[in-house]
Order: sequence, then C-alpha cells, then structure tokens
Amino acid sequence: MGKQQQSLFQTDAPAWEIDDAAETYVATVVFSEAPHGPYDYAVPERLRAVVSPGRRVRVPLGRGARTMLGYCVKLEHRSSGGRALKDMCGIVDDRPLLTPGMLRLTEWMADYYLCPWGVVLDAVVPAGVRGQAGTRGVTFLRVPTQVAAKLSQLELPPKQLEALKILAGSPQPLTPQQLARAAHCTLAPIARLRALKLVAEESRRVHKDDLEDKPQAREARHSLNADQQRALDRMLQALNSGQHQTLLIHGVTGSGKTEVYIRAIEEMTGFGRQAIVLVPEISLTPQTCQRFRARFDRVAVLHSHLSDAERHWHWLRIARGEVQVVVGARSAVFAPAPHLGMIVLDEEHDGSFKQDTAPRYHARDVALWRARAENVPLVLGSATPALDSWQRAQSGEFELVEMPRRVLDRPLPDVTVVDLRVAAKGYHHGGAISRRLQQAMYQALKEDGQIILLLNRRGYSTSIQCPSCGHVVRCIDCDIALTHHRERNRAICHYCDYSIPAPSICPQCGSTGIRYAGLGTQKLEREVQARFPHAPCLRMDSDSMQRPGSHEQALARFRAGEIKILLGTQMIAKGLDFPNVTLVGVINADTALHFPDFRAAERTFQLVTQVAGRTGRGDKGGLVLVQTFSPEHFAIQAAAQHDFAAFARQELPVRAEFHYPPTAAMIRVVVRGAAEMAAEHFAEYVVAKLREAAATAGAEVRILGPAPAPIAKLRGMFRFHALLQDSDRDRLRTVVRHATAELKPPDDVQWIVDVDPLDVL
Ligand code: ADP
Ligand code: ZN
Ligand code: ZN
Repeated sequence: MGKQQQSLFQTDAPAWEIDDAAETYVATVVFSEAPHGPYDYAVPERLRAVVSPGRRVRVPLGRGARTMLGYCVKLEHRSSGGRALKDMCGIVDDRPLLTPGMLRLTEWMADYYLCPWGVVLDAVVPAGVRGQAGTRGVTFLRVPTQVAAKLSQLELPPKQLEALKILAGSPQPLTPQQLARAAHCTLAPIARLRALKLVAEESRRVHKDDLEDKPQAREARHSLNADQQRALDRMLQALNSGQHQTLLIHGVTGSGKTEVYIRAIEEMTGFGRQAIVLVPEISLTPQTCQRFRARFDRVAVLHSHLSDAERHWHWLRIARGEVQVVVGARSAVFAPAPHLGMIVLDEEHDGSFKQDTAPRYHARDVALWRARAENVPLVLGSATPALDSWQRAQSGEFELVEMPRRVLDRPLPDVTVVDLRVAAKGYHHGGAISRRLQQAMYQALKEDGQIILLLNRRGYSTSIQCPSCGHVVRCIDCDIALTHHRERNRAICHYCDYSIPAPSICPQCGSTGIRYAGLGTQKLEREVQARFPHAPCLRMDSDSMQRPGSHEQALARFRAGEIKILLGTQMIAKGLDFPNVTLVGVINADTALHFPDFRAAERTFQLVTQVAGRTGRGDKGGLVLVQTFSPEHFAIQAAAQHDFAAFARQELPVRAEFHYPPTAAMIRVVVRGAAEMAAEHFAEYVVAKLREAAATAGAEVRILGPAPAPIAKLRGMFRFHALLQDSDRDRLRTVVRHATAELKPPDDVQWIVDVDPLDVL
C-alpha cells in the first residue's frame, strides 16, 4: 500500500495535492444492511470536533448520492491514497453508543462469527438506545453557588425560602415536582424562584422511571458451608489477582451457587465495580430478581419483555455507573458497565445463551472475550456443565471448582429408573403414568408434598396417522407431523403454527379409522386429573403460558401450595426452588434421546438431572422416578447416579471418534429456498467452494453434506445443510470466510453460516 501511494505521488500529483492527501481525516464506516462495507469517508472540517468511533453517521453511498446511516468504527489521519473520498454528511448520535472496548468486542464478534460488523453493532446496541426511546427532556433545578453563598441574607416568603434551602442541601439536582414534594409546597413558590433566577435550570433526557426509587425488602444472609466458602475464596482470589481467570463451578442442584455469586459481588461492589450476571431467559423469574434486589441497592434486570424505553433507561443508568448488578439474559453480556468487575454465567450449559439469528453468538464466548479484555474473572456455574466447558476445565484453561454437596447437608434425591418396557408387559394400566409412579404420587400427596411431572412435548396427541394407508398428517409448509390440540380441536404445526381442524377421516384415503397417538402435556393433564381428581393440577408449557406474567403467576400459586401437581415441558425443569416438592416424575426420558443431533445424549442427561434437582430441597427429602424405554442408556444411568463426570467420561470419546465438538470446531452452513432444486444446487455449489478453499489452505477439513437438513422443510422453505469440522478453529473459519466471500445466491435462495452451532436440525 505504502509503496503504491508513493509512486502515485511521484508521477503526476501536484505538490498541493500531496499535502492535502496526507492531511485527510478518514472515517471508516460500516452498515447494518448490504452493502455492509467497510467504506472510507473524509471527515469535513465542520464535523472533526464531533465525530468519534462508536457514533452513527450519515454518509453518501453509490452514484445517486443516496445517504445511508452507518456506524463510524475508526478514525485516523492518513493519506487517502490519491483517491478522492466522499465527505461524511452528518453525525447522528450526540455521544458514542459504544466505548472503545465494546467496539473492539464487536469487531471480534464480526470476525469470529463470520458476520458483517454492522449487523453485530445493531445486535449489541439495543434499538431503544439507537432510537433514544422513551426519554424526554426533564427540567432539573439546582442552586447556583453565588446564591447558595448568600442564602441566609435573602429576604423571601417562607415557602420560597424553605424550598430554596432544601434544594441547596440536596446532593443532586431535583425536578420541580421532586422539590415540591420535599418542601411540602405547591409548584407556585418554585415557579417564583425560577422567575427570580435564584435557581439554575438544566434540561436532561431521562426515562420516567428514573425519578422513582423502589425500596426492597432485605434478606438475611446464610452462613456459608465449607464448599461455598471454598468456592467464594477462589472467586475472591480471582478478583484480587487483577488478572482474567475463568472459573467453572460445577455445583450440584441446590448446592448454593447463587449465594456464592452474591457474596463475591458484594465484595466487589464495595470497590465501585459492577457485575453482570447472565441467566437463561426462563430463569429471570421474580424469585431470581428478588434475591439480587434484596442484597443490592441498585439492580438492573434486563429481560426480553422490556419496552424500548425501559431498555434505554437501563442502558443509560448502567453506562453512568449507577447500577451495581446487571441481571439479564444473553444480551446483557453487552451491558455498558463502565467499571466491570466480574461476569457470572449461571446455568452455563443452557441453550438459550446462543442467539439463533445473526450474529449467532454464544454469550459464554462473548463473556470470555470481554472478561479477558477487561482483565476480570468470568464465573461459569452449572450442575451439568456443557461438555465444551468441561473439556476446557480438564485441560486447565478453566479452573474447576467442585461443589458436590447440597446446602444444609441435604441429600441429593434418590432416583429410580422405571423401565417402561417391563411396565408395558402387564405392570402398566395404559396411559402415561406407570403404576410405580402412580403409587409414589399417592404417597407424596398423602404426606402433603408437591409433585412436578416433566413431559417434553406439548399438545394432546403428538401424531395423527391413518392405520389403513399409513398417512401421517403433516404441515404443508414444514416437514413436521402435526400435533393435536384438544382445546380448539385443531392439528397444529409446532414449527410454524400452521393449523387445520383436527381431521376425523384420513385426508389421504378417507378411512374413518384415523388414529390419534403419542403423548403430549394436554393428554397427561387429563390423565392426572382423572387419577387424582382432588389434587389441584396446573399445566405449564408455551401454550398455557402465553399471557405475559402467566409464568410468574403459575409459579406463585405453586409456591403458595394452592397447586399440588405441576406438569409441563422443560419450562419447569430449570432453576426453580420449591422446598415442598417431594416427588419429580419424568414421564418419558427418551423424548430427546433419539433426535438426529450429536448432542442428544447430553441434552437428555441435562434435562433429567436438572428436573431431578427440583426435589428434595426442603426438610422432607425427595424422590425422582424416571420412566424410560432405554433404562440402560448411559445418559440416563449417569443422571440417576447424579454423576456428571461419569457421563462426560463416556460421551467425550464418542465426540472425539466422530470429530464432533468439543474435540473439533464445527461450522454449519444452511441453504434454504422455496424451490427445492434451486436450493439444492446452490448448496452443492457452496460445498464445492468450501472444498476448494480447504484444498487451497491445505486444511483437512471434514465436510459432511450437502444433505437435506433433519428438518428438511420449514415454513415453506426447503433446507439443505453441510457440517464442517476441523481441529483448528481459526483455520476452519478462514476456509469458510474465503469460500463465502463472493457468494451470490440466486434469487429466493438464502444461506447462513453458524459458527459453533448448537442446533443442527
Ligand atoms: P443453586 O444455585 O446451587 O441451585 P441456590 O443458591 O439457589 O442453589 O440455593 C438453594 C437454596 O439454599 C436457596 O433457597 C438458598 O437461599 C439456600 N441456601 C444457600 N446457601 C445456604 C446456606 N449456606 N445455608 C442455608 N441455606 C442456603
Ligand atoms: Zn388413510
Ligand atoms: Zn409448519
């Protein structure tokens, strides 16, 4: 580059142009829409003082001088290389939306997840922040120093004087309303003070809630047990080292991990630093939030139901350093805490930490990058760590902290595996609940305990099939069998919500013998009600929990003991802490076991272990019954023994044998289109490109596919995919980057790249 420029100048550029080129102030700009850039622009004189990286700018694009909104990501004095750069037109944000550190984080994400930088920026800066949602100019009053100095000499009516004194004594500026309240007066005396110019006014943009403080009830601290104390000591050591470290806390369910996080954060906030605590979206219950609110004065909870205005308000508070603890789902990893002290990822194995739209990031990896860059500890906690994290702890990259016991020396619940194959041979009386489970339920209810039943399939009947011709009723847009929902008597697609009236004759051959089979939560609910008519029962799945707040409401009723039996999908498996639950029944542990997904065993192990962890959390002890057709499967055996290490020992060699993560890095490419042929041809073309790029790089990349994806049709789109595996993560990304750099799919065909995919269906 340098050489080229020199020779250009030497040949024909007049002297004054050389100077000019050397002086150019160049802004690099990226866009969230295609073309994504980056492009260079000259910053005109009038904008030099106000432009900075991290702000959005207006720039001309293309020949028609259309102006586009983009993010300025870099500024530098440099030669324009003799090219005439277009001038930037204007600046949108009155301050940067990102700090330099967060900007570097987004740059890394763009590179790592093979996603345009502008798309990453749009995901990291919430829409409410970009649009300044919900803020309005609010007038704040303060007493100027000259006035404060001669306060005692002022001759004013008593109300005005009183208000003035209160304002002078306030550590921060007050709104007229706040001052009126504090001085027990109307707004009139304050208006008079304003007219007399005895108070100074400033307008600030704030969110309405900013003006309210919400006091919270305090909670007693537990005295830590030995395991907790040891884990806390390790966390404090990491904090005090001033170096980045990742701790993986493997603590059984109910071992008191949250208490340890809270202690460490208490220590840290004493030094004016902030913590980010990431939890799965489903765990953002009032119970979780309350635990943090009870221990810290200033907590921001970022969940997905926030309005743009609320999100913006939280963002500003966090950026001003006014928040001690940010509790939130995945995207809270981007919280703009100015003096970050620590990041905690609880239930680190949870799939909801991975975003399924671009940028397809995993909050754990983003948190790791950020914690390294800011030199602070990252704490990962789980009873069932992701095998990836476990492997990194085994290799010494993460430090493993074990918490193998429950608090208060409570035992882990006994887990009994109920063999449905045997049950089917005579011990079973039809339906979903085996005799063994039914007896245990009677016993639990008799002793006034509560019951949780897990069934990971919603709906009533999960398949509708004609025994005469074999036809299975499927979605017309997806390659998925429809599920019968009894409430509205419809057959519904669980992927796209397509629905038809439940057929009473076979749509294919007209036979009236059409069979509704397979077990969903609605059918289970019926069975429970029929067998236990006096035990109030509640079903919790995404059908019954559609209204906002219904999830919290249901949990509150269960906690109050109003509901005796809670049944539902994995929604009920996570993080709930109900001391009176003495029985957990897993209706069918195999639902996830036979998925065409290399993580099927891991998911099964996690689900069974997590739901089993919901019992025995009080003084009454607990029992778990796991019904399965595969009682000897090692995932189910290990879960029954509460033995994560045994599970990992058996699963990791299988992953290694087939080059699956965590042994090798993996990237998935998905091509989809309404026309099957076009999509398939393009998928073949992409894979050819990938093979070519791998050969050029001399990389031994394993490429599986293209093949129809396990869900071969979704929402009317045919889907093909390829899986790429390589032991060298960076090399694999380089291959994909080169192969896809110039890809131009035909109309109506789309492609995506998913780095470290969690979903391979
Ligand atoms: P985990 O996150 O490991 O599942 P929690 O932190 O939620 O565990 O703790 C489980 C329950 O035990 C909570 O109700 C918590 O208040 C309580 N608890 C935590 N630590 C102690 C302790 N040292 N002594 C008594 N109870 C505790
Ligand atoms: Zn038929
Ligand atoms: Zn569908």
